[in-house]
Amino acid sequence: MKTLLLNKKEICRGTWEFTLAKPADAVHQAGQHITVKLPRLLHEDPKGPQRTFTLASAPHEADWLLATRMTGSGFKKTLLDLSLNTEVEVSGPMGGLVRDERSAALVFLAGGIGITPFRSMVLDLHHKVLGVKVHLFYANRSLDSAAYHNLFTGLAEQPFFTYIPTLNDEPDAAWHGERRILGMELIHAHLTELDAHAFYLCGPPGLVTDLTSRLQTAGVNKERIFSESFWGYP
Ligand SMILES: Cc1cc2nc3c(=O)[nH]c(=O)nc-3n(C[C@H](O)[C@H](O)[C@H](O)COP(=O)(O)OP(=O)(O)OC[C@H]3O[C@@H](n4cnc5c(N)ncnc54)[C@H](O)[C@@H]3O)c2cc1C
Repeated sequence: MKTLLLNKKEICRGTWEFTLAKPADAVHQAGQHITVKLPRLLHEDPKGPQRTFTLASAPHEADWLLATRMTGSGFKKTLLDLSLNTEVEVSGPMGGLVRDERSAALVFLAGGIGITPFRSMVLDLHHKVLGVKVHLFYANRSLDSAAYHNLFTGLAEQPFFTYIPTLNDEPDAAWHGERRILGMELIHAHLTELDAHAFYLCGPPGLVTDLTSRLQTAGVNKERIFSESFWGYP
């Protein structure tokens, strides 16, 4: 199906958010993704004009939001150059990291742009007021590269939501939050009972593989680990 690019803005250093018109009757579950095919490439790209993106918007929001790091690929340079109201081809929403409804306590582990499904899921849970508790661990190098940090900081005033950003290379000494890498030491420091939670992981493939095996070694049953790897990021 076709839809329109309505807006684009840089939401943190090197990360852009793109707003697409939500196609009529389109429904999605928080955490699902779509594929986007550009009408033509303005910059060469060996992988062609199509990529997969998670919908960062929650189902109740009016438009579809995508967020992505600018890597210099021909696809992304073209996406950035597109004029507003350009028509793009989309398919989905499909698959993705959707919430297992049996769990009342969730842990979201995001590396960098792997935050996109969790923006959707956290806003969805807030909107639905289901009483599900969420811990979001969110790793970035620095504050200026942490997309949606202000949104999550605001939501952390809600009793259902605990937000643990960690910045392992933040130059500003005024940052008094976590600096530890996203791993078991950090998780144990903020969560007492791993057993009571379901874990959702998203980010570059290396991070997802590493964290999955660390969680399993720490005794988390693999049936309670759900993950999505964003290929194309180191
Ligand atoms: C379900 C899903 C959801 C996603 N959601 C998002 C999102 O919300 N935001 C976002 O920024 N990105 C998301 N991605 C990743 C996205 O599709 C792109 O792959 C990524 O943004 C990099 O694109 P690129 O054009 O910058 O680089 P690319 O040109 O696509 O790739 C850069 C490098 O990665 C390697 N690579 C790419 N794909 C694969 C692969 N499948 N296997 C092995 N190596 C590979 C390439 O060989 C190349 O060296 C998602 C991916 C999936 C599968």
